[in-house]
Amino acid sequence: MEQAAYSAPTRRTAAVQQKTSNPTLITETAPIATSSHGGRAKCLQRLVRLDLPVPRTVALSFAQVHDIAAGKLPDMAELLGHFGEQPLLCVRPSSEDPDWGGPGAVLNVGMNDALYVDMCDRIGVEAATSLYIRFVQGYSTHVARLDPDMFDELPMTGREALQQALSAYEDETEEPFPQDPAVQLSGVLRSMARAWEGTTARLLRQAKGAPADAGLGLVVQEMAIGLGKGECGSGVIQLVSSATGLPKITGRYRSQSQGREALRKEGQSIYLAKDPRGPSLEELAPEAFAQLIECTKLMRRKLREEMQTEFTIENGQVHVLDGVRINRSSRAAVRIAVSLADDKVIPPEEAILRVEPRALNEMLHRQVDPDAERVVIARGIAASPGAASGKIVFSAAAAQASAARDEACVLIRRETTPEDIRGMHAAVAVVTERGGVTSHAAVIGRGLGLPCVVGASDLVFNVKRKCVTTPDGRTFREGDQITVDGTNGQVLDGAAPLLEAAQDDAFQTLMTWADAFRDIGVRANADTPADAKQARDFKAEGIGLCRTEHMFFEADRLTVMREMIFASRSADRRAALDQLLPMQKADFLELFRIMQGHPVCIRLFDPPLHEFLPNTRDGMRSLAESLDRPLSEVTHRVEELAEHNPMLGMRGVRLGITMPEIYDMQARAIFEATLEASREGALVVPEIMIPLVSAKREVELVKTRVETVAAEVRTATGRDFDYRLGVMVETPRAALRAGEIAPHAAFLSFGTNDLTQMTYGLSRDDAGRFMKEYVQQGVFVEDPFHRLDADGVGELLQMGASRGREARKDLVLSICGEHGGNPESIAFCRKAGFDYVSCSPFRVPVARLAAAQLCVRDKLGETD
Ligand code: PEP
Ligand code: MG
Repeated sequence: MEQAAYSAPTRRTAAVQQKTSNPTLITETAPIATSSHGGRAKCLQRLVRLDLPVPRTVALSFAQVHDIAAGKLPDMAELLGHFGEQPLLCVRPSSEDPDWGGPGAVLNVGMNDALYVDMCDRIGVEAATSLYIRFVQGYSTHVARLDPDMFDELPMTGREALQQALSAYEDETEEPFPQDPAVQLSGVLRSMARAWEGTTARLLRQAKGAPADAGLGLVVQEMAIGLGKGECGSGVIQLVSSATGLPKITGRYRSQSQGREALRKEGQSIYLAKDPRGPSLEELAPEAFAQLIECTKLMRRKLREEMQTEFTIENGQVHVLDGVRINRSSRAAVRIAVSLADDKVIPPEEAILRVEPRALNEMLHRQVDPDAERVVIARGIAASPGAASGKIVFSAAAAQASAARDEACVLIRRETTPEDIRGMHAAVAVVTERGGVTSHAAVIGRGLGLPCVVGASDLVFNVKRKCVTTPDGRTFREGDQITVDGTNGQVLDGAAPLLEAAQDDAFQTLMTWADAFRDIGVRANADTPADAKQARDFKAEGIGLCRTEHMFFEADRLTVMREMIFASRSADRRAALDQLLPMQKADFLELFRIMQGHPVCIRLFDPPLHEFLPNTRDGMRSLAESLDRPLSEVTHRVEELAEHNPMLGMRGVRLGITMPEIYDMQARAIFEATLEASREGALVVPEIMIPLVSAKREVELVKTRVETVAAEVRTATGRDFDYRLGVMVETPRAALRAGEIAPHAAFLSFGTNDLTQMTYGLSRDDAGRFMKEYVQQGVFVEDPFHRLDADGVGELLQMGASRGREARKDLVLSICGEHGGNPESIAFCRKAGFDYVSCSPFRVPVARLAAAQLCVRDKLGETD
C-alpha cells in the first residue's frame, strides 16, 4: 500500500542518518524518502512522477543539512550546476512531518547585479527591481540576521529603492551585498540548518510530537517567478472546504506575487472559481484555472490525499511548486477520508486509520470557532469537550431558575456534588475550582455531553458575593456572560462564536466501516433514559455501567431516601425503601425498554450515605421540618454519618452488607422490571454489579441475598428469569484476589477511576490541584485519571484479568472507568483480552473508531 502524501511518519528508520553523497536532483527514480529527505521532498518526487509542471528541484537529506549546520557545506558548484548559468532559486524546509514546522522559505536566491540587468529585459524593470529588493530584504533578515525595521522607510519599488536597500545592507554589515550565487546559497542553507537546530525550534517541534533527533531536509528549487509580463502571479488552490470537507474550489490568487503572498489578508488577491463577490482566476486565465483543477484532481487520485496545490503562473503558464495535505477541521477529516474511500482512492480500512479518534469527540460537540478571538479568563482541565456560552450562576437552584427563564447559564462551583446534578442538567456548561478528570463534575459533564472545565484553580472564589476574580484582577459576577471551552480547558470572556456539532452521513459511514473491523465490544456508561438513548444513537452495544445513586436525587425521592437514612431499625428502613421500590423499578424498566434486549449492567448503590444529607444549617432545618423531627436529632445523625475519609469509608458493598435492605430493594426492582420488560419485548438478562469489593466474603454475602430476592420474585410471580451477578474491581485487593472472587462472579468490570485513586493513593477529587505541575515536571507522563497508567494500575488489571480467567474460563472482562473511552487505554484492554470497554455515551464513537484502528493496524502488521 503506497503511503499517503505527507502522512505523519509511523516509524523512524535508520535511513535518516545516511551520510551519503551529494544533494539529489529530484527525478522519478532518485533515491528520496520521507524518512531521509522529509515529506516535501518526497511529495515533490511524486509530483514529478505524475509529470506535473514542477520546476527543477534538488533535495538535501537530513544528514546533509545536519552537516551544514556543523559548518560542512556540500559541493556548491555541483549543487548550482543543476540550475544553469544564472540560477534563480528558492530554498524550503522539508521536515519528516509538516506539522513539525521548519524555517521559513527564502526566495530569489541568486539575484545579483548581473542577473538584474538580464531580468530587466525578460520581465521588465519594475518586476526585476521588486524581485531584487525582496531578495535583499529576505537575505538581510534570514541570513545576515539584520533588523527587518531597517527597510521600513524604503519605498518598495524603483531603482532608487534598490540602491537604498543595497546600501543599507552594506552600511550594516560593512560588506557589499554578496554577488556570488554560491555564497548566497551557502548563507541561506547554513542559516536554515542552524535555525532548525536551535533550542527554541527543537522545543516547539517536540511539543508537536517530534522526536528529539528529528531531522530537517531542504529543497532547492528553480524559481517560477510570478512577476513580469503577461499574466503572472501565484496562489494556492484546493477542491474541498477545510471546514466541512465538502466539494468547494477554494484558495486565492494574486497577480504579480510570489510565495504565499496571495494568502495575506490585505492586498488584491482574487478568488479562484467565479464568485459573485469579486473577480476570479477562472475569468482572468481560464486555461490556467482548468489546468490547476486537473493537477489537483490528479494529485488527489495518485497521492491518495486531498491536496492543496501551491502554484505560480508565468506569462500564462502554470508551474506547480508544491502539494500540501490540506488543513482540515475534524468534520472535514471524516468527510475527506470517507469520500476518498467512496471514490476507491483508498480502501475503507485506510479511511478508518486516517481519522484521529479524538477528532470525533470534537465534531460531536459545538466548538469555539478556531478563527475567533479568545479572551481567556481562566484555564483548567479540559474535562468534557465542547463549548457553550451562558450567564454565570453559582448554585444549582440558580441554574434551574435560569433554565426556567430560558436563559442559557454556566454553573460555576468550587466542586459539584450529587446535589448539583439537577443544576448541571439545567446549565449549558460547568466550571469548577477543584477536581480532576474523574471528579464528579467531570464524570457527569461527559455523561451529559456538557462542556466542562475543572480544576480552574486560578480563579479566586467569593461564593458569598457571588463572584470570581481572575488572576489579572478582573471580577465576574452572577449574570455576566462567559464561554466555556471544555475541549481546550479554557474559560473565555463573553459569548464566543461557535461552530455547530456535526453528525453527518460521512460520520455514519465511517462508523459502520469501523464496526465491521472491531473485535472488542463498546458499551456506554448511562444512568438516565436520556443517556441510554444517546448511547443507542451512538450504537453502544449495551450499558456497561448504570450508576444507580443518581436516581435518588430527584426531589420526591430524596426525602424518602433521607427517611431511610434516619431510620435506625431495619424494619423502618425497609418501610422507607418500599416507597422507593416502584420508582426504582420504573427507572430500570425504562432503561430496559430503551436498550431493547441489549445488556444493561446495573451497579448497586455505591456512595457514602452522607452525600444525601444537607451540609448547611438551613438545609438541616428544612430536613427537620420535612421529617418532622427536632433539628438537634437531624444535626446529630448528620454528624454520626460524617467520615474522615468518605471515599475509603462506608460506601459500596460495605453499605450493602451493613444495611442490606438497600440492595434487597434494588435487586427486587431489577427483577420485577426484567419480567415486565421481557413480557413486552426482547428478553432481558440483567447484569448486577457489586461495587467496591475487596474480599471474597463480601461477594458471597451479597450473592446469597440477591439469590433469595430472585427466588422470592420467581415464587411471587410464578415466572422465571435469568440474571448475571458480577463484581466491580476497583480496589487493589480485589484485583490481587481476583482468583478467589471470580468463581462467584459471572463478570469482572474494572472501575479504573477508584482503582487509580487507590493504587496511587491519590484523591481523584483533589488531583487537579497539582496534576499540571506533576505532568510538567515529568513525574507522571500524563494524568493517570485520563490515560490508564499501564505500568502500575495496568499491572493490577493484567493480574486481575489473568487470575480471574484462570479460575473461571468464561469470565467476562471489561473496564468501566473513564479510561474506557481513551484510545491508548482501549489498546491496553484489548491486548489484555478484555471483552468490552464502557465509557460515557459521547465517547462511544471515539472508542468504536479507536478499537477498529487497532484491528486494522494488526491486519497491516503495524502493531508490535
Ligand atoms: C470507577 O471507580 O472507576 C467507577 C467507574 O465508578 P465511579 O466513578 O462511580 O466511582
Ligand atoms: Mg468507583
